Amino acid sequence: MTGHADGLAPETRAVALGRPPRTPGSAVNPPVELTSTHVTPGDFADGVPIYGRYTNATWAALEEVLGGLEHGRAVTFASGMAAGTALFALVPRGARVVMGETSYNAMLALARELDAVGDLRLTLVDVADTDAVRAALPGADWLLLESPTNPLLEVADLPALIAAARDADVRVGVDNTFATPLLQNPLDLGADVVLHSATKYLAGHSDVLLGALVTTDDALHERLVDHRTLRGAIPGPFEAWLALRGVRTLGVRLARQQETAAELARRLAEHPAVARVRYPGLPDDAGHAVAARTMRGFGAMVAIEPVGGREAATAVTQRVRLWTPATSLGGVESLIERRRRIPSEPTTVPEALLRLSVGLEDVEDLWRDLDAALG
Ligand SMILES: *Cc1c(COP(=O)(O)O)cnc(C)c1O
Repeated sequence: MTGHADGLAPETRAVALGRPPRTPGSAVNPPVELTSTHVTPGDFADGVPIYGRYTNATWAALEEVLGGLEHGRAVTFASGMAAGTALFALVPRGARVVMGETSYNAMLALARELDAVGDLRLTLVDVADTDAVRAALPGADWLLLESPTNPLLEVADLPALIAAARDADVRVGVDNTFATPLLQNPLDLGADVVLHSATKYLAGHSDVLLGALVTTDDALHERLVDHRTLRGAIPGPFEAWLALRGVRTLGVRLARQQETAAELARRLAEHPAVARVRYPGLPDDAGHAVAARTMRGFGAMVAIEPVGGREAATAVTQRVRLWTPATSLGGVESLIERRRRIPSEPTTVPEALLRLSVGLEDVEDLWRDLDAALG
């Protein structure tokens, strides 16, 4: 399918791309290419595989799908944070980086570490405050956005912010993990690089860690491949195959998860034991207007703060029977987590905040379990 994806819906691309060439008797699925080295008699020949740290047929198939979904060229990595490390490696030494103050905790910790050793100069902003982000751009080199944010579900006005960054000659990276390529495509808006923790919705089954960067810029693509090759931040072939297997069903999974999340958010907003619900699909949510204008859906992540604070929140995670108390998100099984139990979680996240990753179980079963746990 390479090169023939134009005009196909993303749900179709997820299924149709990354397949072996159609010859009589050929396999429908790409192989898990488990080899560290390749037969290469004679001299170097362009395009002939040499070694497993440089190229792998299973990565290539997955990259064709992820590139097709995000409208660029994908490079896969060992995890989302390996992809994040490669993204920071694009930033020139000492450059100024503007980044969301409520970004994913490990991305924020890494940025702070790079700032502390002088590799970059970090300016933290509220990504939901478009004017504040714009004001931070003059003199900056990179703008790193995440939207919706993990776990506060704030929504950045990506079209406005990416346009402002381009006007100010600032390069843009967007962590699109929560939205997935089905809900927004930052490269189409002019972003330079998109990051995915494919561990989450793309692979979708909580059985693999994998990351990806996608770019339309051939020079950046080459630097990212070089980074992966020299630092050895490569995905395992089997992990790449699992992610490929998972991403085939992204369309139906996300559609169902999103529908269930919207229904649960509506009910939770009425629940007497819930003090606050964050979900961009709720009309009175702070991010609703921007999400409704810029995204093709509101996603399947919900955050709630039970009445009674931290203890009440912890008790909910101990009482659920169907929801699994665990970190991570985007899988087929519904997960619930009090984020601040993790010491590295930023204090911008309320102590009582429970992050809900809505899976594929029946909505009434999920509701009954949550309702009973909330008491
Ligand atoms: C999980 C996550 C990451 C990191 O990905 P890993 O696969 O865990 O390394 C980065 N960004 C966001 C938004 C995430 O949720």
